[in-house]
Amino acid sequence: MTSQCLFCRIAAGDIPSNKVYSDDDVYAFRDINPAAPQHILVIPRKHLSSLNDAGPEDQALMGKLLLSARSIAQELGFADDGFRTVINTGEHGGQTVFHIHVHVLSGRHLSWPPG
Ligand code: AMP
Ligand code: ZN
Repeated sequence: MTSQCLFCRIAAGDIPSNKVYSDDDVYAFRDINPAAPQHILVIPRKHLSSLNDAGPEDQALMGKLLLSARSIAQELGFADDGFRTVINTGEHGGQTVFHIHVHVLSGRHLSWPPG
């Protein structure tokens, strides 16, 4: 928990969010500015600034993030229609919040390549 970090504070319940899933390692909530009809953010409770800061000790946690995204997609009913998982990293990746998060997007056809 980093007290200055927005997503640490959301996971801790200090800042309100629209929670969709929570366990000891992972917290998931709806994006405040959705880019698709379904837009969930899946974060580890552990503070990691970005994928650049994840190390070998985070291997299981990174796997859990991705499988949690899949479970949430199933639970919310859009897994079979399809969805996109995205991790933006650093400036060129378009990252704006420096606590690693997996975007889960669905509910419409998503174009490729991204802008
Ligand atoms: P990124 O640009 O990949 O770092 O994604 C950050 C995401 O966090 C954006 O899609 C924002 O809309 C979202 N966001 C920022 N603040 C909040 C918040 N308080 N609650 C939910 N989502 C947020
Ligand atoms: Zn954090």
